Amino acid sequence: MSQPTIHVDCLIFGGGVAGLFTLNQCLEQGVEAVLLESNALGHGQTIDSQGIIHGGLKYEITHGGHDSAVAIREMPHLWRRALAGESSPDLSHVQLRSDNCYVWKTKSLASRLGFIGAKMALRVKPEVLDADERPEWLTSDGITVARLAEQVIEPRNLLEVFSKKLEDRLLLTASGGVEVNKVDGQWRISLLNPQTGEPLDIIANDVVLTAGSGNESLREQFGLQGKSTQTRPLHMVLVRGDLPVVNGHCIDGAKTRVTITTTTDYAGRKVWQVGGQLAEDGVNMEPSQLICHASKELHAVIPNLDLSQAEFLTYRSTRAEQFAKGKRPQDISIESEDGVHTCFPTKLAFAPRLAEAVVHRLSTTSTSQPSTITGLSWPKPMVALPVWESDAIWNTPEVLCS
Ligand SMILES: Cc1cc2nc3c(=O)[nH]c(=O)nc-3n(C[C@H](O)[C@H](O)[C@H](O)COP(=O)(O)OP(=O)(O)OC[C@H]3O[C@@H](n4cnc5c(N)ncnc54)[C@H](O)[C@@H]3O)c2cc1C
Repeated sequence: MSQPTIHVDCLIFGGGVAGLFTLNQCLEQGVEAVLLESNALGHGQTIDSQGIIHGGLKYEITHGGHDSAVAIREMPHLWRRALAGESSPDLSHVQLRSDNCYVWKTKSLASRLGFIGAKMALRVKPEVLDADERPEWLTSDGITVARLAEQVIEPRNLLEVFSKKLEDRLLLTASGGVEVNKVDGQWRISLLNPQTGEPLDIIANDVVLTAGSGNESLREQFGLQGKSTQTRPLHMVLVRGDLPVVNGHCIDGAKTRVTITTTTDYAGRKVWQVGGQLAEDGVNMEPSQLICHASKELHAVIPNLDLSQAEFLTYRSTRAEQFAKGKRPQDISIESEDGVHTCFPTKLAFAPRLAEAVVHRLSTTSTSQPSTITGLSWPKPMVALPVWESDAIWNTPEVLCS
C-alpha cells in the first residue's frame, strides 16, 4: 500500500519569524503551503531577540548611512500599520513592549558626533526631548535623550499569534529529520509522525529554507553546494527585579554601547534584555565576568540607577545570516537554486519584506490544486520559551563581583 501523500506548491522548513511570515504570505496569495518545524517555533534567534522594529539607526551609526540600508527605513511604518490592524498580516493582537524607543548618548565628543550622524538620513528620526519630557530613569544632567518611533514587540507573542492563525499548516518533524528526493521534477520529502511513527510524503514544487542556523545542513540534504551561512555570536545579559521600563539604545561614537528592552516574566517581574556592544564584547567572557562588566556598564549609561537588588543572568545566542565573509549583511537574502530558496531575513524587522520577496520567486504564484492538507492529523510544534522563563540560577553582582 502506498503511504499517505500530500501535494503542496511550497514547503517551508523552519518556523521562526521568517518561516511564519512566509507561510502566511503564501496562504494570503493563494499558494498552497505547509511548514515543518523540528523543535519549537522561534527556537534560536526569534525567541532570543529583543523585538525592536529597527528603522536603520544602528546602520546609520555603524555605517554612516550606507545606501543599502535604505530598505530598513521602511520597516517601522510597515509594521506600525500591521500592528494597528490596518494592513496585512493583521498583527493587532501582538503585544507591544513599547510604542517607541529612547536613544541617549553619553558625554564624550565622539558620542555626540555619532548622535548627530544618526539624525541625518533616517525616515524615523530621533526627536530630541526637553528635560521635562525625559523618562524618569534618565534625568541626569549632561545627557541628550531622544525618542525614536521604533516599536518594540514581544517576540514570543508574535510567534503565538502566528501559531494560532496558521495551526493547520504547522507540522512537527521527528528528531531523525526528513528524507529528501527529487522525483519527476518535484521535491519529495518523507517524514515520520513524531508520536505514532506513521510515514507521510509531501510533494512540493518549491522548498523554502528559513531554518536559521539549520539552513546549512538542510542545503546539504537538498544536494546544494557552497557555503550559505555565517554565524555571529552574542552573549546577552538579563537583569530582573524592580526595574524601570527601558526600551532603547545608548550610543557612544560609532557604537550602540547597550541596547535595553524590557519584558515581564510569569511572576510579574520586570526583565531587561541587554544587548548592543556589551553582548558583542561578552562573547569571549565567562558569564560571571560579563555580569560584573554589565553591572558597571549599566551604571555608566544610566547614572543614578540602583541595581543593588537586581538579579543577573546571561545567555548565548547566534545570529545566522547569509555568508558575507563575516561582514554585517544589511538586507534580506534569498538564494534560489533548483526550486530551493535559502532565506535569511537578517533582522526580525525584515521578515515581512523577506516573505513578500520569496513568494515572488516561487514557480507557482497561486495554486491550481485543491488542498490535500485538510483533515491531516499531525503533532503541532509548541512555541519556544524565552530564557528568562527557564529554571536557570540568577546571580547578583554584589555576590559575584566583590
Ligand atoms: C540576541 C538577538 C537579538 C536580536 N534582536 C533583534 C531585534 O531587536 N530586532 C531585529 O529586527 N532583529 C533582531 N535579531 C535578529 C533576529 O532575531 C533574526 O534575524 C530573526 O529572528 C531570524 O529569524 P529566522 O526565522 O530566520 O530564524 P530563527 O528564529 O532562528 O528560526 C529558525 C527556525 O527553524 C527551525 N529549524 C532549524 N532547523 C530545522 C530543520 N532542519 N527542520 C525544520 N525546522 C528547523 C528552528 O527550530 C527555528 O524554529 C536579534 C538576534 C539575536 C540573536
